[in-house]
Amino acid sequence: CVNPETNQQSTKELEQVNSDMEMFTYAVSHDLKSPIRNIVSFAGLILKNQKEKLDETVAEQLRIVLNSGKSMNNLVQNILIYARTGLEDLVAKKVNIKNLLSAKLEDLDELVLRKNTKIDIDIPDVSIRCYPELLGMVFYNLISNGLKYNESNSPTVKCSLTSDDSNFIFSINDNGIGIDADFKDIIFQPFKRLHSSKIDGSGLGLSICKRIIELHKGKIWIENDEEKGTEFKFSISNNI
Ligand code: ADP
Repeated sequence: CVNPETNQQSTKELEQVNSDMEMFTYAVSHDLKSPIRNIVSFAGLILKNQKEKLDETVAEQLRIVLNSGKSMNNLVQNILIYARTGLEDLVAKKVNIKNLLSAKLEDLDELVLRKNTKIDIDIPDVSIRCYPELLGMVFYNLISNGLKYNESNSPTVKCSLTSDDSNFIFSINDNGIGIDADFKDIIFQPFKRLHSSKIDGSGLGLSICKRIIELHKGKIWIENDEEKGTEFKFSISNNI
């Protein structure tokens, strides 16, 4: 039989370990931000300012450094969000959603060019109250997944926006390898991956998206009726 006092004690200890881990994760991720920023900005500067002097092989290697730095930056940002700390300081702002999305696409540049991909943005020129940095991560995670898990000759991601009385509803639709209907719910849990051996990833992206969308009083789900590819939809409340 289980002693309720011992049980309470171990739950408390577990909570303490969890909260220590969150603080540790936050501190490490936070400290990683500045060196990564340096890698990205200096690699970018050299590529821009020394363009004529660099031979093509060196330029290509520098582009890889720049690209890896950008991915690392997004990964660290994801971990920071996951560790939660600091979310209390968030301030909702009204931002032009098309501009927010376009700014985030710059992080995808190399990926897009390399795989000859296409991103269709069918979003009206509207301003929406949201947590811009976090919502930007949702766009980044969903769009980069649409390109990553994609074996088409012309990988395409379409982004669109509709609304109802209380929500804005986004759709991010790709022509990639698709997600089996059996996995469409568990895929939002941390570290659940379906194609881990083939493609790099942390398994955190979709669970982060879920957290962020819930902070926007919304929901995220996968539409079932796609014959090919995957359509993610998410809502955010128009009353944040
Ligand atoms: P990661 O991409 O780092 O593995 P995510 O949480 O973003 O982590 O995604 C979890 C898993 O869901 C992926 O490993 C992949 O198997 C699957 N997945 C996510 N997005 C897509 C997509 N657009 N098309 C097909 N599979 C996807």
